[in-house]
Amino acid sequence: MSDSSSPGLTRRTFLKLSAGVAGGAVLADLKALGLDTREIRARALAAPLKQGKETPSICPYCAVGCGQIVTVEAANGQIIDIQGNADSPINQGTLCPKGAATFQLDVNPLRWTTVKYRAPGSDHWEDQTLDWAMDRIASLVKQTRDAHFNENQDMPDGKGGTVSKRVMNTYAIASLGGATMDNEWNYIHQKLMHGLGVVYLENQARI
Ligand code: SF4
Repeated sequence: MSDSSSPGLTRRTFLKLSAGVAGGAVLADLKALGLDTREIRARALAAPLKQGKETPSICPYCAVGCGQIVTVEAANGQIIDIQGNADSPINQGTLCPKGAATFQLDVNPLRWTTVKYRAPGSDHWEDQTLDWAMDRIASLVKQTRDAHFNENQDMPDGKGGTVSKRVMNTYAIASLGGATMDNEWNYIHQKLMHGLGVVYLENQARI
């Protein structure tokens, strides 16, 4: 695919340049188009290139699902760079400001690594493990569902009276999705929630 304003300049070449990867072949492409490549070359050479094991990944932030390349230091497995994946048909190498900052999500001394829990009536937060939080959520969901499960419900019968209908649901639990839930996750999540009888089920990609 060629850029319409610059015949012969492929989108991939452009993205490589944008990412600061100005190899000889790319610059040759531009020279052949009669463009002055000196400034581009100088800027590309000045950009720090991180080298390591590159693994394709998906941006964790929203349901757009932009492709990323995660670069890892071969010696210690430490993430040293995260950039847009030029081969992804979704974002073609680009990332929005949030996705472009994914590196800071992973490599950040301020990142929380424990669950923060504030007990009912308490005035302070406690650190808990993820296993503890998962067990507590599961047990509260079961307790709430057992206490508020509707096997049948009276509904209008259209003649001014009511009729008992089998509904198998609960109105006591709601599920609100977040920004990192993609289509696959949402599909399985709604299966789980509907299996529990939850009817208040919503996802919003950018909360
Ligand atoms: S947060 Fe931005 S970069 Fe990440 S998937 Fe969504 S649009 Fe793409």
